[in-house]
Amino acid sequence: MDMRCKICDGLLFKYIGKPRTNPVFPRILKNDYRIFQCQRCDYYFIFPEIDLSQEEWKKFYETDYFQVAKQTQWHKRIRQKERIERLELLENSLKIAKGKFLDMGCGEGLVLKNAELLGFEPYGLDIARNLENTDSDRYHFFLGNVFEANYPDEYFSAIYMDSVLEHLSNPMETLKELKRILKPGGALLIVVPNEDSMENSFKKLCYRLIFQAGKYGKIKPFIAPYHIQGFNKKSLSHALKSIGLNLLVLQDFGGNYPFWKNDRIGSKPFFADIFLYGIGLLSIVWKNQIQILAIAKK
Ligand SMILES: [Zn+2]
Repeated sequence: MDMRCKICDGLLFKYIGKPRTNPVFPRILKNDYRIFQCQRCDYYFIFPEIDLSQEEWKKFYETDYFQVAKQTQWHKRIRQKERIERLELLENSLKIAKGKFLDMGCGEGLVLKNAELLGFEPYGLDIARNLENTDSDRYHFFLGNVFEANYPDEYFSAIYMDSVLEHLSNPMETLKELKRILKPGGALLIVVPNEDSMENSFKKLCYRLIFQAGKYGKIKPFIAPYHIQGFNKKSLSHALKSIGLNLLVLQDFGGNYPFWKNDRIGSKPFFADIFLYGIGLLSIVWKNQIQILAIAKK
């Protein structure tokens, strides 16, 4: 099988380790999967490729994905604030009038609602249905992937893709398709986890100190939320620039959540939050927080 970087076509890789596997994945245990990093653009990926069908992934996402992301009221408030800030950033990046807005991987439709309030005409797409029925019509919901949706050329003024790219088996083809359906002067917003964040490196170090180095690895493709590839600022900007988009914003975020406003005060995760807050502050200084946000213009 040809081993070539999907992002930059590079041919030199660093071996990172073997992925941990959740017992719900018995079928794929047969393959000898390994995690690598491209030496040229820093992209993390698994080899050989995971051969689950869209239907099989869908089952995992519908049963598992949102339970993993169990959120307290505190988290919900933070997420809401972040969504609005991002949408405003996207709005300010447009060189054209606000028009059709696509949320790639719209989940329960919270972004669509906020986009509508800002004056966009929202469209939702997802491989799993988590929208209310009434919202499905209102937001032109499409069940499936963006290729199946086959939107016309230059259809959307803005496209929003939060926590999706790291799940796709064809990241570059998807980005090219998004470029095709984006209007000239329109903007694409992407959020991905930062694989090389200070928090990740710190957790890895902690596991090493208790002689469990194998337990905390990069990308974790077989454990929810199933990231089958991983980015840092370098690989994400490479991906966007190489398809001919103009990178307007590239920043890390997510390191400074106010733990003292947390609903979980006194619980175990609360103490972990205090500790991680310290790491978070350092990661702000070092510009290496847990998530990356990019906005690119066509
Ligand atoms: Zn590469």
